[in-house]
Amino acid sequence: MSSLVSFGKCCSVLVTGASRGIGLQMVDSLAAGGGFSPGKIIATTRNPATAQKLQELANKHPNIHIITLDVVSQESIERCAEEVGQLLQDEGLNCLINNAGINVVADLHSVTADKMMENFHTNAVAPLMITKAFLPLLKRAASRGEAGDSGSMSIQRAAVINVSSLLGSVELNWGEGANNIKWYPYRTSKSALNMVSRCMAKDLEPDGILCMAIHPGWVRTDMGGSEGLLSPEESVSSILSVIGGLSEKDHGSFLNFTGEALPW
Ligand code: NDP
Repeated sequence: MSSLVSFGKCCSVLVTGASRGIGLQMVDSLAAGGGFSPGKIIATTRNPATAQKLQELANKHPNIHIITLDVVSQESIERCAEEVGQLLQDEGLNCLINNAGINVVADLHSVTADKMMENFHTNAVAPLMITKAFLPLLKRAASRGEAGDSGSMSIQRAAVINVSSLLGSVELNWGEGANNIKWYPYRTSKSALNMVSRCMAKDLEPDGILCMAIHPGWVRTDMGGSEGLLSPEESVSSILSVIGGLSEKDHGSFLNFTGEALPW
């Protein structure tokens, strides 16, 4: 069964950082759902006016709703949650994908407190604040459950997916894996995101909201660069397949885009 079939049963998906890269590809792939309508796709971007490719997608697919969200602005997060609430009403939000991220490059010599805080804010603090703001909508979706499958955890019911990175793995940052020493801000921000995911998983469990972190692979985007091993299409097709099939056993996990568990 393809990922798009699984996603087809999901009513609403929100993707942050949908202007380009992996986020844009997620919106594209969800909208092109091979005849299986994924329901409402909420594509958020900090500047809709300049997100031309996203605008083109939205013109083609009426189920794409573009909403402004600057993930580091609490005011923007609250405004976005209110707009999404008006759009989704009693349905609630089924799947929140915290994808927006930045990579502030710095080694031991060039790193500063400001660089650390900037990366930490976007990659670790923002997903937490966004999830908090969308909690009432996620709870609403979770309480409705999925027809015929109530009680179980899945993205069709309610889920928070945090797009993390292998570079956030403390265990893998040793020996061979420790070569990328120029990434103090990025690596630590993703380690923090992993812990945020784990903490939230514990807190969201009683409400039946699945929460996990996923590594998208090394992808050819503005962040990943032209040498990346995967095209955005390949990465996203695999990610959607993995998250489309998530269940209770994956709650609180850190998975590769191929579906295998990664070391924390
Ligand atoms: P890109 O740099 O291509 O895109 C980043 C996206 O995040 C853009 O849409 C950007 O919006 C958005 N963004 C950044 N800051 C903010 C903000 N303050 N508010 C709203 N949106 C913001 O990155 P990728 O697509 O490659 O990365 C997506 C995610 O995948 C990130 O979390 C990244 O860490 C993770 N990842 C990527 C890998 C790769 O190889 N590419 C590997 C491992 C993880 P704007 O256009 O407005 O700047």
